[in-house]
Amino acid sequence: MRPEAARQPLGIFGGTFDPVHFGHLRLAEEAADALGLQSVRWIPAGRPALRDTPRVGPRQRLEMVRAAIAGNPRFELDPAEVEAPGPSYTVPTLERLRRPDACGADRPLVLLVGNDAFAGMAGWHRWECLFELAHVAVAHRPGYSVDPERLDSELAAAFRRRFCADPARLAAAPAGCIATFAMTPLDISATRIRSLLSKGQSPRYLMPDSVIAHIHEHRYYTEN
Ligand code: ATP
Repeated sequence: MRPEAARQPLGIFGGTFDPVHFGHLRLAEEAADALGLQSVRWIPAGRPALRDTPRVGPRQRLEMVRAAIAGNPRFELDPAEVEAPGPSYTVPTLERLRRPDACGADRPLVLLVGNDAFAGMAGWHRWECLFELAHVAVAHRPGYSVDPERLDSELAAAFRRRFCADPARLAAAPAGCIATFAMTPLDISATRIRSLLSKGQSPRYLMPDSVIAHIHEHRYYTEN
């Protein structure tokens, strides 16, 4: 990597991706433009700590993300959580990325989350440590922003203290800010796609054809 590229902010996008869809892809693509990210590293969760066991196994979800992001030079795939034996937590993942043999201490890291994920952040394992390790950027629909009145009080306090209106500031420090960015509203969820597939209905135009082909080939999500 060119030395200047190694100093540009890197987006970190974790999720269950059970399966990956266009809501995820647009979030990552629009974040890269809005926040000046050098690239976005996708990190599928192996065993997500805070939700039911995914319908499809970690390696299969990793392969679906691989198919979805293929050909996008700004996207990269990180298999570490999928390969780890224990539950997936964001803070240990960021600590791994901060090691000298990974991104090191100085590179700006920007954790990308949707509004719903951000609202639940106060329930995450060691969540207060997040801001020492990364910035957080929250995707919202145009016209809607994060409402601190509706957040957990400690998360609302962190939001007020750390909010940064100018995304250019993310490049000036390795971690510590909360930014928001508008993305094209796409009312797509993996839950809805799983439901369609289990009923034999089509998820076409909600996700890439390559992922749909992969799902059909391996007969994922066919049963309730
Ligand atoms: P499920 O329906 O199974 O809960 P999901 O579609 O919400 O899944 P996740 O893998 O849980 O997908 O989400 C990963 C990240 O992507 C989260 O930060 C979530 O807020 C965000 N996200 C998911 N779908 C959208 C969408 N349509 N628009 C914006 N952000 C989204």
